[in-house]
Amino acid sequence: MTRRPLVAGNWKMNGLRASLAEIKAMGAAYDEALRARAELIVCPPATLIAPAAEAASRGGLGLGGQNCHAAENGAHTGDISAEMLKDAGASYVIVGHSERRADHGETDAIVQAKAAAALRAGLTPIICVGETRAEREAGDALGVVGEQIEGSLPADAPEQIVVAYEPVWAIGTGLTPTLADVAQMHAFARERIEARLGRGKSATVRILYGGSVKPANARELMGVANVDGALVGGASLTAKDFMAIAAAYR
Ligand code: PEP
Repeated sequence: MTRRPLVAGNWKMNGLRASLAEIKAMGAAYDEALRARAELIVCPPATLIAPAAEAASRGGLGLGGQNCHAAENGAHTGDISAEMLKDAGASYVIVGHSERRADHGETDAIVQAKAAAALRAGLTPIICVGETRAEREAGDALGVVGEQIEGSLPADAPEQIVVAYEPVWAIGTGLTPTLADVAQMHAFARERIEARLGRGKSATVRILYGGSVKPANARELMGVANVDGALVGGASLTAKDFMAIAAAYR
């Protein structure tokens, strides 16, 4: 089963219009040889999606949002719908990032509703799961991630969905799990996706690793079985580092 690797950048709450130069540079560096090997997307703040779509249009670089509301529209001040992200030029949206689960109390049920909204709007959801340090230390990492997969993936989701395994303790800390732990978790995640969606679909779902991916460790992390790409935070803010990570697939 061949899955097209996906390298996705999550800019979080960073980026002003001046940062569009980085997206332009990423688009320019995303050449045919790399395009043949991996898909590249950037998820800037929502304010930059429409201008980024213009800046990136000639390079084949895709765009995504970082969150969406479950509803299509309505009285939800300050929120943004999946349809709006799509209209602005996004083709993906991250849902259930641990920062949203922690800062905004997003439960698995909420994440699942957001993933369903993304699919309704024609966006591909990148559904994030991952254990905290305390949960790993207590030996609960697999159990926690298994439950998040069960609760956060819509039962009828198509095989195009993306799941990102992001251990919370590895995000922005410079720490990463051992390659053996990554291999164990990704194999387990694929099993749980199969239990949720069925075998045919599970084999096609891409499972990204996220958490302190850098140019220096990208190659070894991307080389682990069942790792189908990366979700990159801090190192996706500059074209230089992001493209050096994507180069793992050259
Ligand atoms: C993230 O926020 O999704 C992430 C993986 O961050 P970082 O790469 O900075 O650890």
